[in-house]
Amino acid sequence: MSLVAGVIRRLDETVVNRIAAGEVIQRPANAIKEMIENCLDAKSTSIQVVVKEGGLKLIQIQDNGTGIRKEDLEIVCERFTTSKLQSFEDLASISTYGFRGEALASISHVAHVTITTKTSDGKCAYRASYSDGKLKAPPKPCAGNQGTQITVEDLFYNIATRRKALKNPSEEYGKILEVVGRYSIHNSGISFSVKKQGETVADVRTLPGATTVDNIRSIFGNAVSRELIEVGCEDQTLAFKMNGYISNANYSVKKCIFLLFINHRLVESTSLKKAIETVYAAYLPKNTHPFLYLSLEISPQNVDVNVHPTKHEVHFLHEESIVARVQQHVEGKLLGSNASRTYFTQTLLPGLAGPSEDTVKAATSTSSSASGSGDKVCAHHMVRTDSREQKLDAFLQPVSKPPASRPQTSIPEDETEGPGGRVRPQDKEAPEPPAPAEAAAKDDRMQGDVPRGMEASEKRGPGSSPGLPRKRCREDADVEMMEDESRKEMTAACTPRRRIINLTSVLSLREEISERGHETLREMLRNYSFVGCVNPQWALAQHQTKLYLLNTTKLSEELFYQILIYDFANFGVLRLSAGNLIGLPLLIDNYVPPLEGLPIFILRLATEVNWDEEKECFESLSKECAMFYSVRKQYVSEDSTLSGQQNKLPASTANPWKWTVEHVVYKAFRSHLLPPKHFAEDGNILQLANLPDLYRVFERC
Ligand code: ADP
Ligand code: MG
Repeated sequence: MSLVAGVIRRLDETVVNRIAAGEVIQRPANAIKEMIENCLDAKSTSIQVVVKEGGLKLIQIQDNGTGIRKEDLEIVCERFTTSKLQSFEDLASISTYGFRGEALASISHVAHVTITTKTSDGKCAYRASYSDGKLKAPPKPCAGNQGTQITVEDLFYNIATRRKALKNPSEEYGKILEVVGRYSIHNSGISFSVKKQGETVADVRTLPGATTVDNIRSIFGNAVSRELIEVGCEDQTLAFKMNGYISNANYSVKKCIFLLFINHRLVESTSLKKAIETVYAAYLPKNTHPFLYLSLEISPQNVDVNVHPTKHEVHFLHEESIVARVQQHVEGKLLGSNASRTYFTQTLLPGLAGPSEDTVKAATSTSSSASGSGDKVCAHHMVRTDSREQKLDAFLQPVSKPPASRPQTSIPEDETEGPGGRVRPQDKEAPEPPAPAEAAAKDDRMQGDVPRGMEASEKRGPGSSPGLPRKRCREDADVEMMEDESRKEMTAACTPRRRIINLTSVLSLREEISERGHETLREMLRNYSFVGCVNPQWALAQHQTKLYLLNTTKLSEELFYQILIYDFANFGVLRLSAGNLIGLPLLIDNYVPPLEGLPIFILRLATEVNWDEEKECFESLSKECAMFYSVRKQYVSEDSTLSGQQNKLPASTANPWKWTVEHVVYKAFRSHLLPPKHFAEDGNILQLANLPDLYRVFERC
């Protein structure tokens, strides 16, 4: 082997630039962070991000900021071109994110960049495309709103190694959501959104008028947002200011969530993190960590932002003293909140928190007061556990006259029951299906004049009780059975055969249901106490010390959808006695869909169901069915039963549908519904009040 010295050559400029670019832009999330900072520098109030394949295929950022002047479009993507810094001395007082003019240049060296922009005094927008920092062709006039849209396509198309290293788009997407989520919390007042191309629902979305806590709630959830303590301190000698929100001792997570902004830049600081975690170690269970959002403003001349191309690391003067000062403040706040137990910064609406540890602990110790744990439970944390004690209806005056518009409504029977008021099924010891005594005559009637011309007949398989493939127990899971034999037969808990479904389409629909399931909501739906129906669409339920408003229509629609998918091909049949339609699936015992919706259901089967693709077909068919079966206001009138056994309801039941909603539909929610996450966000499950908070209000009176 000969030892030949290598020839030293000057690297080609584009190679140099590409290497440098790869250092600044390490992954899609870096590019997005840089571009978001540009949007913020340009005073935007709305920033929308759309990505495809985790940003590797496409990143599009639209803002409504100042725009870029047409004459600057030529050099905007060249290295070291900036509108933010002129002399080196300016660096000492820099207040914008950008200052080096390196981001766009870098991106254009590793991706195809297109800028569409309009300034407030420009007559129209201009569009220009870039490659390796250079404008490809003169900017073209085009239509466009005030602001800038930057499109970055095929990131790292020219760096094969990087492309290979980043082959997991969903991981990249996660990083993007993290960065934008954090910036949106730090920039409350500005609206942010991130979504995948082609999707209608954004994965990060904050509103223009939202507060910091609103944004923490929307990004990290209610469980943390209701356990926050506001912090803030200032020190003139050290020339710094700090503010933010930290979780109290009731909240903990497996991995520390630390959002640190120094001079509005998202950074990391191991020393600060360590210092604060030491404080929490005394308060939190072992191996659990807090949530922290801190914004430090340090005199710009004390901060060296220019230590790394990604600007990720920031060093500052008096680092140790500042860290110690912040640590001390956090400790004081935590201690204070612990002593006075005034943790809550929670607003009442909207959303649903998981039961906080605080309330859970309190509730447990209430129910087992003999355990001698020594924890005294405040009255406002006590939970009334007997749901039969009081229902909403007990507070409502009996209607003395039927509404004029409903002459068919029978005169309220309650008046015949004396001063004690009406006896409603739910007031009884155990909710039972109405008047078993009358059921004896049922068989004949079922064949003959079954209400609404319908009869439940066929058997369902064992375990075919609707719901997920979770352990389902007939006893606690379903509607109470009538005593007589025919009832048992109808629900057929003992019928031996169940069809096993191996269709990929159905299996994947099941998987989708379980993926979007929300454990905390499910827990809540399992253990709530029913308070009452507001109307056919809304009902109230209590869980722990909280009162919730639940959208019966949406929840029941989801319930029936899940039953349709999970019990696919294993339904019983509700026989129709007339016409060409022979039967409908029996989805839960004692429930008949509101048949007023039947014509539109049949029509929609023709127009809304995709009959061509297997999975889509099952999905859309089940959706339509679920909608038809759901409890809907327009189809449920005062005298509807929904239960198919109108003639057996006790005479005292003024609103038979209410009985069914409580004892059939809501009962099925307990065991058969895996509520999707979005119910906590879209107002279908809404927390109205929390007892401890009410106590705080009344204490002041
Ligand atoms: P820097 O932010 O360091 O100045 P960049 O490469 O990120 O460098 O951006 C270069 C210049 O492009 C900025 O100084 C700014 O004038 C302009 N610019 C980039 N993005 C936007 C935007 N979204 N709105 C307005 N101007 C922008
Ligand atoms: Mg910039």
